[in-house]
Amino acid sequence: MSISTTLKRLKVSLRASNYPKGKLTGHNPTSAQVCLHKYGCWYVHIQLKSETPKPQKTTNVIGVDFGRRDLAVTSTGKSWSGKEIQKTRDKYSRVRASLQKKASQGTRSSRRRARQILKRLGGRAGRYQAWLNHNISTAIINDAKQTQSFVSIEDLTGIREQTNSKPRNKTERRRSNSWAFYQLRTFLEYKGIKEGIEVVAVNPAYTSQSCHCCLHIGVRTEKKFKCSNKVCGWIGDADENGSKMIALLGASVSRPRGSELLSCAIAQGLPKAPTIALA
Ligand SMILES: [Zn+2]
Repeated sequence: MSISTTLKRLKVSLRASNYPKGKLTGHNPTSAQVCLHKYGCWYVHIQLKSETPKPQKTTNVIGVDFGRRDLAVTSTGKSWSGKEIQKTRDKYSRVRASLQKKASQGTRSSRRRARQILKRLGGRAGRYQAWLNHNISTAIINDAKQTQSFVSIEDLTGIREQTNSKPRNKTERRRSNSWAFYQLRTFLEYKGIKEGIEVVAVNPAYTSQSCHCCLHIGVRTEKKFKCSNKVCGWIGDADENGSKMIALLGASVSRPRGSELLSCAIAQGLPKAPTIALA
């Protein structure tokens, strides 16, 4: 690599693993930044442009419900438990709390030691979360690719601003304020672009309360959903119903005429909504 500085032109050799080397082969970088990282190493961040496949037009859809009980549940029946990450988060916050106490109360040397460990731990929980989000998003995009579907998710952004106008429960506040779900969404979106899978975001307002069979408002307890429409009476897993509702809404977004019917049905609470076929 050749860098021009105010003094002279520097020639430095790059130390890179095979993966970035392979990416660079045959490409012309469009831009790059030279950065000094916190442990004293110099890094160069190189940007490449590549062609992405055109998103396929398809009527198949996979709905993804974000973390009520699980981190993510798909309408195809896959789910990722939130237990492990919650345990990890709790563990780190306990360790941090005890170290922070030591850092302010202990002897001089133990205070210094505690500060060092705190520094090392910083970011570890975040890296675990990112790793998990990569796993989840890759699996969902792979599923979509295999079944030639597009992906429908809840649009959780903007809910934060409406906090005062719409009373919400603790879980929903946590979901919309959590960077982890925001990250999962951005991962899904960029992986989708890369693979030619469309990712649409739908309004989450009714996804947890409406029955995916008849669009009637139902009763939701922690894990179960019960449709209050006597004709339908669907009972089942609440997250499964949520993800199917999201899939349904996503399908109506990609087909504009269905959208009108659906939102109209939800607004009026029609006993039997027009059938919207899911391919
Ligand atoms: Zn129903």
